[in-house]
Parts: sequence; C-alpha cells; structure tokens
Amino acid sequence: MLNLMFIAICMVIASMGISLLFKMQRLKELEKRADALNASLEEMDEQAKLIIRTDIELNKTQEELDKKITGLSTLQQLSREISTTLEEKQIFKKIGKFYLEELGFEKSSALLWDNLTREFHLYLSIGYSESESLRIKDAVNTDKDYYLDLMHGGKTASSVFIPEGFLDKDKICQLFQANEFIICPITPKEGNQGFIFVGTQNIETRITEGEREIITILANQIGQSLDNARLFEKTWRSQQELEIKVEERTRQLTETMEELKKISKRKSDFISSVSHELRTPLTSIKGYAAILLAGKLGAIPDEIKERLAKINRHSDELVHMVNDLLDISRIESGKVNMHVETLELAPIVEKVADLLSEQFKAKNITFNMLIPEDCKKIMVDRSQIERVFINLIGNALKFTPENGSISVGVHCSNKTIQVDVKDTGFGIPQEAQEKIFEEFYRVDNTINQGVKGTGLGLTLVKHIIEAHRGNIWVTSKLGEGATFSFTLNCTE
Ligand code: ADP
Repeated sequence: MLNLMFIAICMVIASMGISLLFKMQRLKELEKRADALNASLEEMDEQAKLIIRTDIELNKTQEELDKKITGLSTLQQLSREISTTLEEKQIFKKIGKFYLEELGFEKSSALLWDNLTREFHLYLSIGYSESESLRIKDAVNTDKDYYLDLMHGGKTASSVFIPEGFLDKDKICQLFQANEFIICPITPKEGNQGFIFVGTQNIETRITEGEREIITILANQIGQSLDNARLFEKTWRSQQELEIKVEERTRQLTETMEELKKISKRKSDFISSVSHELRTPLTSIKGYAAILLAGKLGAIPDEIKERLAKINRHSDELVHMVNDLLDISRIESGKVNMHVETLELAPIVEKVADLLSEQFKAKNITFNMLIPEDCKKIMVDRSQIERVFINLIGNALKFTPENGSISVGVHCSNKTIQVDVKDTGFGIPQEAQEKIFEEFYRVDNTINQGVKGTGLGLTLVKHIIEAHRGNIWVTSKLGEGATFSFTLNCTE
C-alpha cells in the first residue's frame, strides 16, 4: 500500500515536474517574445522621434523658404524702384521702412565714404532718432579704419559671422541698437563707396544665410544704381556744358553775322553812291569826247582823233564797270526787283549768240546749242538771265582761241534745270577756280594780260543766279577749256 502510495506520489511529482518543465519552457518563450516586443517598441519610439524631428526640420525649412520668397519678392520690388532712380540721395530714400520690415529688419543705416572730407556721411537712417543717427555717424567715423577695411575687402559682417579684424559683435549691437544684424559693403565701380547696416532687436530672430544673401544683393543693386546715377549726372552735366557752349557760339555767330551784314550793307551803299557819283562825270567825258570827235567844235587832227576815240572807248569800259558795280550792290542789298516769269530758254540764248555773232565770226568760233524737248522752259527774270548768258558766252569768246567752239547744253531733273556753257579755250587753273567768282578777281596769267576785263562779270553772274535760288560752279582743266554750269528752277 505504501509502495502504491509512493508510486502514486512519485507519479504526481513527476507529472508536476513535467508540467513545470513545460511551463518554464513556455515562460522562456514568453520572455523571448516580450523582449522582441520591447525591441520593436523601442524601434517604433525612435522612429516616432525621428518623424517629429523631421517634421520640425521641415517646418523650419518651410519657414526659411517662405522668408526667402518674401525677401526675394521685396528685393525685386525694391530693386526695380532703385534702378529707375537717377539721383544719389533718392536711391536711399527708396529703401523705406516698409521694404525694410518686409525683409525682417526695423533698423537700417547706410553711410558713404567721402574721399575729400575723409569721413563717412549718412545717407540712410531708419529706426533711429536724429540724435541717434548722429551718434552712429560719429562712432562710425571714430572707427572708420575698421569700416574702410571691411568695405575695401568686400566682406560682409553679421551677428553670425564677424570677419577677422573687424569690430566685435557687442560693440556693433550696442551702437546700432540691434541684437541681430548684417553689415554689407556698397561698392560702386566709380565714386564714393560705403556700407549698409540692417538689424533687428527681436531676440528670437537669427540671421540666416538667405537673409545675408538678400542683403548682399541689395547692396550690389545700390552700388549699380549709384554708378548709373553718377553716369547720368556726368552725362547731364556735360550736356549742359555743351548746350551753354552751343548757345554761346550761336550768339557769337549771330553777332558776327549781324556785323557782316552791316559791313556788307555799308560796302554796297558805298559802291552804290560812288558808282552814281562816277556816272555823271563819265557821261560828260563821253559827251565831250563825242562832240570833239564829231568836229562840232572845229576840225581836229587825226592824232587827236585817235586819242579821243580812246577816251571814248575807255569811258565806255568805265561806264560798263560802273554799271556792273551798281548792279552787284543792288542785288546784294536786295534792291533789284526780279520779274520772274516762265520763259522759253532757246530764244534767250539765240538772242545773246546773235548779239555776239560778230565776235564769233572774227575768231571763227562755232556755236552750238542743245536744248532737249523736256527742258525748254525756265523761271527767270528775262533781262537778268540775258546778262548771265552775255557774260558767260562773252567770257568763253574772250578766252577761246580762234577756230574753237562754244556750246550751251541743258539737262533737267525734278523741277531743276542745269545749263552748261562750255568752251574749248585756255581753261582755268585749279587754284583760281574758287576765286574767279570774287569781285575784281582775274586770273594772273599772260593770256589775261592781253584780254580786257574788270573781274566783275562772274561776280555779277553769281549774284543773279543766287537771286534766282540757283547755284553756279566751274569745271576746268588748264588747256582743255572750261565749263560754267548753273542751275535754275523750271516749270517742265
Ligand atoms: P573779266 O572777264 O572781266 O576778267 P570775270 O569776272 O568775267 O571778269 O572773269 C574773271 C576771270 O575768270 C577772268 O579774268 C578769267 O581769268 C577767268 N575766266 C572767266 N571765264 C573764263 C573762261 N571761259 N575761260 C577761261 N578763263 C575764264
């Protein structure tokens, strides 16, 4: 019985042991699972932390980005305003409180270095009273070497980064009454340079890389605008100087013109009155010579007759000269009334050729006239234009040797007619061609010594042509003849 009980107890103990073993095993398994769970829980916790951290980062970046976008758009507006300003002081006035606050700052100063006075001058002061601005200016000038170094080195100082050798952060913060700041050099290519300070008292603000970039761009823009303004100022000033010079020159020229007009009028008046005075005695001389020649005061010997004929001839020449002089001065002073009418050109030329026919015959010179159908009419004063042809064809006759030829050719275009009087004579040397239209000018050569003349004919011709609003010129080669060309208005 005892044995049975012992066996039974043993079996119970054994079964309990087995079940304990099983339970222990299960417990181990459970522990393992719990460990695994713990591990994954920790992992999840880490991940959750990472997510939160990333979210914070993202928010910050988003904020940064928003700030940057606002800053950039403000900068764009501001740049547009600044770049259209052409006055130095106005450029700084455009950086108003509004733009500054949009950029996240409420305090700003800009100072430019003046090489002449050797000090910084204040150009911009926002967020400071007058006395504070003055204090800033004085303090900057006391520490000018530091600011000049910063400026010349093109370095930017900020509350985040102070370049080596520059003033310390606290000093700047104290002077400009700011917790965070940026100081950026303004470096135009020409003229005075300087720097701009922007700052804020907000203790939560931290200067970012983006803000530093924006203020650098702004400082560059100010520099460029200063260059533009200075260039404009320079151009404007030189234009003003030029205008003053032009005005002065115009005034001088007008005065000279007036003076010349007066002199010319005096000369014309003088010639006119002298010519008049000369005409009366000349007529008497001619008259007496004619009476004597006619033998009305008794017979005269042939020798005296010859002398009298000479007096008569020379008197004629003198009368001719006096008349030419009178005409020139009359035309010059506008005293001649032109009776301009539409006339046929050919009959005028024919009449003159007819008048001079004896001389043509005497030298066996041929005369040709070529007037095309469509250039037949001219608008002229008949008697004046006759004098033009008499002088030009007369000269051609004088300066063309025997057996030569003279021609009058015409061509027209666009309401203008051009007449060419051409000869096969001695021609005119180049240097004399510009002078032959001057009063009393005669080419100084052996040919002219044998040809009579006064040097007034071409002057008169030029005056007549110009009174008709035409031009006259000569083309010639020595020994190859000369061509006198002039223009006139025509109707066809
Ligand atoms: P004048 O014939 O009375 O000397 P003009 O004024 O008519 O005065 O001419 C000025 C000068 O121009 C002449 O002296 C002459 O030297 C030169 N000249 C004018 N016409 C001709 C010509 N057809 N050929 C050569 N020389 C000429």
